[in-house]
Amino acid sequence: MRGTVGDLVDAVTAGLQDYRTHAFNIRNQYQHQRNLRQNLATHPDECAIHIDFSENYNCGFGSEVMAVHFGASHQQATLHTGILYVGEEAIPFTSVSDCRRHDPAAIWSYLSPVLDYVSQNYPDVSKVHIFSDGPTTQYRNKTNFYLFSRELYIRGFDGGSWNFSEAGHGKGAADGVGASLKRTGDRLQSQGKDVPNAKALYTALQNSGTSVKLFFISDTDLQEQTAHLNLPGNLIPIPGTMRIHQLILTSQGHIQYRDVSCKDHPGDACGCEGLKAFIFPGFEAAPPGVPIHPPRVPIPPPGVPIPPPRVPIPAPGVPIPAPGVPIPAPGTPNLPVEPSVPLSPARDQVSLLQLCYISRAVK
Ligand SMILES: [Zn+2]
Repeated sequence: MRGTVGDLVDAVTAGLQDYRTHAFNIRNQYQHQRNLRQNLATHPDECAIHIDFSENYNCGFGSEVMAVHFGASHQQATLHTGILYVGEEAIPFTSVSDCRRHDPAAIWSYLSPVLDYVSQNYPDVSKVHIFSDGPTTQYRNKTNFYLFSRELYIRGFDGGSWNFSEAGHGKGAADGVGASLKRTGDRLQSQGKDVPNAKALYTALQNSGTSVKLFFISDTDLQEQTAHLNLPGNLIPIPGTMRIHQLILTSQGHIQYRDVSCKDHPGDACGCEGLKAFIFPGFEAAPPGVPIHPPRVPIPPPGVPIPPPRVPIPAPGVPIPAPGVPIPAPGTPNLPVEPSVPLSPARDQVSLLQLCYISRAVK
């Protein structure tokens, strides 16, 4: 590969710029998460849920040779793991399933019993903040964004936020939950216990005395739930989806989003960091910024269909911004906001001095 010294300087400049943003995002997202969790002690109306898929668990048999010889086969179990933070409590949990789907619709089935648990045990909680990594096939895509904007309200919550860790830096406490359960499963198998499928794994883990709160979602239940989600066919992606690190709900179907979470106002739609708005199809009539406070809906027994999303009535005279139009910071009316997010002062902490040195060295 050949090029001029100028080409080299350009390449290094571009690389440093990307690295600077990456390094800033890593620190910022961790700091935001820490600040939000600390705030929970004084915010009994909020909770945080850190989620992650553990690698599928390989089920097996205590007496492997004989069992497999007589026709048994290996199955895998999905483990959607996490930690629920409420007040100063940290509750590890895992949804176990024989369904192998990891798509957004399935994710909301794995989350469903966790949200029900919050509703039943912490009735003061009205806002749910979610932390996850950002793989585009699972959490960071238009279908999950849409479901996030809708499903919490259906369950009677008033809003919340979804915060993505920077790419490659999503490992957290949720991983430890999955690892711990897998070790327990392996130990039981090595002691001769058959764990042939997800349901058996769930039962064995329940009986093992684990402190992890366990939920089981059968493949049949999951397929039924996801079939009733009524996903619209005309979903369009939020602009700049790959850069987004935070979504905030203001009302059902209405999302505000930005490239990084604001660590100074954890979980709030505070207008910092270039907050923008987006409205999903079917929810255009709902005014942004007007939260709906429906009564907590009782959890329907299995088999009862999930009620359709509640569409709030628009307040007269409340203008609706077009998708992608930035929301000005509170208290700064009529001030234009840059549509693209400029580097904040904090991002400039990594000095460009190195670059100057490089430029001088090659001259
Ligand atoms: Zn802020």
